[in-house]
Amino acid sequence: MPKFSNSPLIIQWSVICLFLISAANSDDPQLNIHGNAQTFALRTTPENNLRMRQGSPFKIALFADLHFGEAAWTNWGPLQDVNSVKVMSTVLDKENPDFVIYLGDVITANNIMIKNASLYWDLAVSPTRAKGIPWASVFGNHDDAPFEWPMEWFSATGVPQLQCPAGSTSYAGGEDCSFRGTTRLELMKSETEHNTLSYSRNGPQTLWPSVSSYVLKLSLSSDSEAAVAYLYFFDSGGGSYPEVISSAQAKWFQQKSAEVNPDARVPEIIFWHIPSKAYKKVAPRFSVPNNCIGSIFMEDVAAQEAEMGIMRVLGGRPSVKAVFVGHNHGLDWCCPYKKLWLCFARHTGYGGYGDWPRGARILEINQQPFSLKSWIRMEDGHLHSEVLLSS
Ligand SMILES: [Zn+2]
Repeated sequence: MPKFSNSPLIIQWSVICLFLISAANSDDPQLNIHGNAQTFALRTTPENNLRMRQGSPFKIALFADLHFGEAAWTNWGPLQDVNSVKVMSTVLDKENPDFVIYLGDVITANNIMIKNASLYWDLAVSPTRAKGIPWASVFGNHDDAPFEWPMEWFSATGVPQLQCPAGSTSYAGGEDCSFRGTTRLELMKSETEHNTLSYSRNGPQTLWPSVSSYVLKLSLSSDSEAAVAYLYFFDSGGGSYPEVISSAQAKWFQQKSAEVNPDARVPEIIFWHIPSKAYKKVAPRFSVPNNCIGSIFMEDVAAQEAEMGIMRVLGGRPSVKAVFVGHNHGLDWCCPYKKLWLCFARHTGYGGYGDWPRGARILEINQQPFSLKSWIRMEDGHLHSEVLLSS
């Protein structure tokens, strides 16, 4: 749960944005994070095809649960965002990944008191964009949540003076001060229209309100036809609709994987935000079993509300190597489940509950022979929990 200060201090979001933008770009003052993404060299081809160089591994950094925009009206909330930018910049500097995945809860929309939460989303992707690294994102349960008026605002100190732009209606500013939350479609539109480095996309309309369900192909730069791996992204719900991966999404995966990878020869790697109920089954209890690898085992798994078939489909496909989720900030383990691995990322953001040290899970994909390796890179630079997720 977010922490709230007892003494609200109003800070205009524009000031916060400027502060964060300068923090994000402190290593290169010439970079303009707004609109100049096309000046960076693309390491991959556009559309849904990622390329890796022959003989070089393809490295992915997972940024989970950044929670930008938490308690923006306090003095400590915006500082959390500055610290989250520093975590991402450190990880990007140390690992130099080819690709970044934003694994949901990029923003704490239920704390964001401006009309368009994309401004905070934009800040969250700014360290990756500033380094010219392409990325993809999925939604978490906080990303499209409507604003929740804090109880503390109704105490003797009163509701803070809100900065509402003047509207054209007789009730000036009414629309812009209603803070209804920014929809998944609006957030996705803003990310993809303003960033040539973004590989995120809306999934098929038949899957909505689930939006971020799509697939990317990883192939060799020398041969875009030959796939090295398929990366599948799922919207696991939450916020404006239940926390679930629907049977329609499971069916979509079944059909899509049969279409693009009919003999299941190409490995498949899966990403979504909220752990499925299967995570509860393999979660270490009492003591850490030998077959799980991680460093924090501090919580019960907060699983999706229902299981509607996705795990049966994934578990029945030998090409599926691993699933990666965020959501539980106090868990960072990988445990085997059937013939695949279920993994948590690592809490990357200073926003969101928990004070466990921040870091990011890294994936390394090698081709010929295929291997999927993972470890966690911490904010202080050290590495741990290395595990081979393919064999
Ligand atoms: Zn979270």
